[in-house]
Amino acid sequence: MRTINLRGKTALILGVANKRSLAWAIAEALGEAGCRLAMTYQGVRLQKNVSELASKHKNALVMALDVTSEEQVDGVFATVKSRFGRLDYLIHSIAFARRAELEGEFRKTTREGWRIALDISAYSLVALSNRAARLMTEGGSIISLTFQASQRVFPNYNVMGAAKAALEYNTRQLAYELGPKNIRVNTISAGPVPTLSARGISGFSGMAAHHRKKSPLQRNIEPREVGDTALFLCSDLGSGITGATIYVDAGYNIIGL
Ligand code: NAP
Repeated sequence: MRTINLRGKTALILGVANKRSLAWAIAEALGEAGCRLAMTYQGVRLQKNVSELASKHKNALVMALDVTSEEQVDGVFATVKSRFGRLDYLIHSIAFARRAELEGEFRKTTREGWRIALDISAYSLVALSNRAARLMTEGGSIISLTFQASQRVFPNYNVMGAAKAALEYNTRQLAYELGPKNIRVNTISAGPVPTLSARGISGFSGMAAHHRKKSPLQRNIEPREVGDTALFLCSDLGSGITGATIYVDAGYNIIGL
């Protein structure tokens, strides 16, 4: 019988806000497979909550990280290097756009709103992958989280659709550049899950209900299914996959009408 065993491997997971976060579902899946975990959260208000969650996993390292700060990004990788020596997996599960940019007309997106959304939600993958690759001396797997608004129009998703299109492009370009180092780069396109960020998108519940009704599996996905897909992509079972956008959306993406 083949089982997934990640003992001796280390993952850096960004974007744990609370137990509903997709990053937490991924942390659970990798942790249960024996992987050592380093997790980051943003903002002092989350520290207690994230530290409590992380304490479930032996020796998990918890650090604060705002990806808009080069200094903090460097600090996190320096800590990972001194504590673990090297890195095997990077999970990028973060996104942000100002509330005003997630409702109304896309054409009213401000220059500053665009800059913030694209910087945090897409550029950060480039900056983090560059640092992570230096520590992935034995190959590795980099995974981010995207949404189908990168390809199709979802009202109110607005500038985040542009950010996700950039993120998916980044995935392909980074996969090309890091392939020779045996570092695979993929993105999981998740169906709607009611997390803290998702609830900030105007009309989110209606969108989730529509997905449930129209998707081939006739339901919404569970965070655990995102965690399991990330586990598969980190493990040797995913060794031939890179540069891909993998849909974990109960099949919604294939539907035309
Ligand atoms: P979440 O629990 O709210 O996680 C989003 C995380 O991004 C939070 O921890 C947030 O921290 C963090 N973040 C925002 N700005 C940051 C910054 N400057 N530096 C570092 N971290 C920052 O929501 P989620 O739904 O799990 O989101 C995770 C990923 O999944 C995102 O890329 C999202 O677009 C993607 N996704 C979600 C869905 C869905 O329906 N939930 C579907 C497809 C894709 P704060 O809470 O402090 O802002």
